[in-house]
Amino acid sequence: MPYLGQDLTDTIVALATPPGVSAIAVIRLSGKEAVTAVALIFEGKDLSTADPNHVYFGSIVKGGQLIDEVLVTCFHAPRSYTGEDVVEISCHGSPYVAQRILEVILKGDIRMAGPGEFTLRAFLNGKMDLSQAEAVADLIASTSQSGHDLAIKQMRGGFSRELSQLRERLIHFASLLELELDFAEEDVDFADRDKLDSLIREILVVITRLIRSFQLGNVIKRGVPTVIAGRPNAGKSTLLNALLSEERAIVSEIPGTTRDTIEEILNINGVEFRLIDTAGLREAQDQIEVMGVQRTLEKIRGSALLLYIFDVAQLDREQVGADLEKLVTGSLPYLAVANKMDLNPYAKAEDYKSALLTEDRFIPISAINEMNIEYLKERIFDTIFSDGYQQESTIVSNSRHHEALVHVRDRLETVREGLSSGITGDLLALDIRHALHYLGEITGEISTEDLLDNIFRKFCIGK
Ligand code: GDP
Repeated sequence: MPYLGQDLTDTIVALATPPGVSAIAVIRLSGKEAVTAVALIFEGKDLSTADPNHVYFGSIVKGGQLIDEVLVTCFHAPRSYTGEDVVEISCHGSPYVAQRILEVILKGDIRMAGPGEFTLRAFLNGKMDLSQAEAVADLIASTSQSGHDLAIKQMRGGFSRELSQLRERLIHFASLLELELDFAEEDVDFADRDKLDSLIREILVVITRLIRSFQLGNVIKRGVPTVIAGRPNAGKSTLLNALLSEERAIVSEIPGTTRDTIEEILNINGVEFRLIDTAGLREAQDQIEVMGVQRTLEKIRGSALLLYIFDVAQLDREQVGADLEKLVTGSLPYLAVANKMDLNPYAKAEDYKSALLTEDRFIPISAINEMNIEYLKERIFDTIFSDGYQQESTIVSNSRHHEALVHVRDRLETVREGLSSGITGDLLALDIRHALHYLGEITGEISTEDLLDNIFRKFCIGK
């Protein structure tokens, strides 16, 4: 099978560390020629007889000229990352040195690796399943603790194991149904329809939970888009600064000056919240403000959490209620942040009570004095993770998996409909096979060249 037009039996090489100056750089080779190619330029130990998984010190020499002193480790197939012979050369982290070593290696029968090709080979050689391979990419890209946890868990295979078990049980039923076809004349039912129905219901519970977890998985991976909205001068910029404890946004006393939106990252309990400060909510006066208000509503539509902030010294129950009516859409989680409590210390939830402002959503603060900011942070976290974000439960964070799971669910619904309308076994079997196909796509038990190209070309070279 070719990958991006290249032969997957070639021996490949790439820089495994980021380009640029560093203490050490690692050059990695994989394939049949890996050991021989490095043995030719390595002085210090005969690599053809070297022990695998041992580190050897020596020099890279070409044409009598010393290029660098390095450490070399050989891994023998199949006990390596890719499942092929792998050699890793740790050299000094100078881009020039790394480049020279690469050049010398590329003179032989070796080519540069394509993006993600090491991991693709690992997958093709059965070292990991597809969702594990994708987790490697996530792990490398993760910037927060929870994103990292998620990737590690997926890489260890928890996610695919759960699906593989379900798939096995379905395969069993599909085979029984197909067996019936061979005995069509005898009119026997090998596959107990009631048992099949209850299995499918059981699977649907799991699949639906996984589909739902995607929303959470996505926010954990990308950060929770959180909009801060409120009238001009309510204290949006001050709140942003208080949350970030740094003077980032420009605070001004002229209403409506925060015209552009600002985005900052706030980390609460290891989860990233992407805070979006928007232009004021005031009834539009000029063109720029119209755009600002529209942008606020657009930003809210694309967000996972709304922090509506208002000035307790300025607004009354009706105004706050009207603002919330305007801003809160559908099932969007939101909090009403009552700001400037220092100016009106007796303000309480009851004074602002309305259909959209229940007591539990009312968070009194004073942004400028950083009063109650820690409590607000707790509430922000709990609002998103109120359903119990459990470290142990499986979370889907990959949109390809999500899409496949939705297909599985649709197919299984079809099977259930078929069962209740009493369609024939061959049609049932067909729908089950479709569901199995999509389940297999997630773990890579079923894969096509296009699918693989698509996943691995997003990796960087050397991974
Ligand atoms: P924005 O237009 O919503 O971004 O509001 P700003 O953050 O620019 O704040 C408007 C004005 O309110 C500034 O003068 C702030 O110093 C002031 N302000 C913000 N929070 C508080 C607060 O908790 N108490 C008081 N007294 N003033 C505040």
